[in-house]
Amino acid sequence: MIRIIFQRQKCIGCGSCVEAAPDRWKMNNIDGKSILIDAKGKKGFFTIELTDDEYEQNIEAADICPVHIIRVEKY
Ligand code: SF4
Repeated sequence: MIRIIFQRQKCIGCGSCVEAAPDRWKMNNIDGKSILIDAKGKKGFFTIELTDDEYEQNIEAADICPVHIIRVEKY
């Protein structure tokens, strides 16, 4: 299993995470920030737990994010 943690407030809306992992990320046209699809938010952090098959795409999203607000953990 993997866990993705996203600190949404600091997103600058570059869209790179959507390009890297379009199944899990999309842009919000209203505030211009990205959305971690189906994640639960708490105190500005959005979290979701997923199966390993989404690991590669989301590690790529984390690596490419210019402000380093995406974390992917394996557990
Ligand atoms: S790559 Fe980072 S800064 Fe760019 S849209 Fe995604 S979360 Fe926001």
